[in-house]
Amino acid sequence: MERLRRAVRDIADFPQPGIMFKDITPLLGDPAAFSTVIDEIVAHFGRGNIDKVVGIEARGFIVASPVAYHFGAGFVPVRKRGKLPWEVERESYSLEYGSETLEVHRDAIAPGERVAIVDDVLATGGTAAATAHLVERLGGLVQGMAFIIELAPLGGRQRLAGHAVLSLLRYD
Ligand code: AMP
Repeated sequence: MERLRRAVRDIADFPQPGIMFKDITPLLGDPAAFSTVIDEIVAHFGRGNIDKVVGIEARGFIVASPVAYHFGAGFVPVRKRGKLPWEVERESYSLEYGSETLEVHRDAIAPGERVAIVDDVLATGGTAAATAHLVERLGGLVQGMAFIIELAPLGGRQRLAGHAVLSLLRYD
C-alpha cells in the first residue's frame, strides 16, 4: 500500500485553483502497483459474485475493465451526456459549481444483475451516487463500490451511506 501511495502524484491547482488533483498515471504505469489495485478490488468482491462492472468516465474505465475481465463479468460504461449512441437513462447531479449529467445505455444491465461500481477517486460522492441511481433504475443490484483513492474530508462515504465502499488509499 505504501508503494501505491508513493505512485500517486499530487498536482496543485489542477484543473482549477484550489483543487489538489490526484494523478494516478504513475500508478497505472507501475506494473506492480497497477496489478495490486486490480487484485485487491477483485479479491474484495470475490470472483463469481459480480455480473457487471460499471466504470465511470473516464479514468474509471481504466480500472473497471481489468476488474471485469478477472471476474468473467461484463463491462458497462457510464458516460458524460451525449457520448453514448443508443437509448439512455440519464441522471443529473449538482457539483460545487454547476451540474453534471451521466448516462448509461438502457440495455446495459438486466434486472437482478449484480453490479460493482468502480472509479479512480471518491471525492464528494456525487458521481458515484448518480451512477448507483442509474444502475438501480435499470433494476441492477449494487453490490458495492470500489475506488483507488478516497478523499475522506469531502464526505463521499457518508453520501454513499447504505452502499459498501472500498477504498485502497485514504487521504485525511
Ligand atoms: P465526486 O463526485 O465529488 O466524488 O468526484 C468524483 C469524480 O471526480 C471522480 O470521477 C474523480 O475522477 C474526479 N475527482 C474529484 N476530485 C478529484 C481529485 N482531487 N483528483 C482527481 N480526480 C478527482
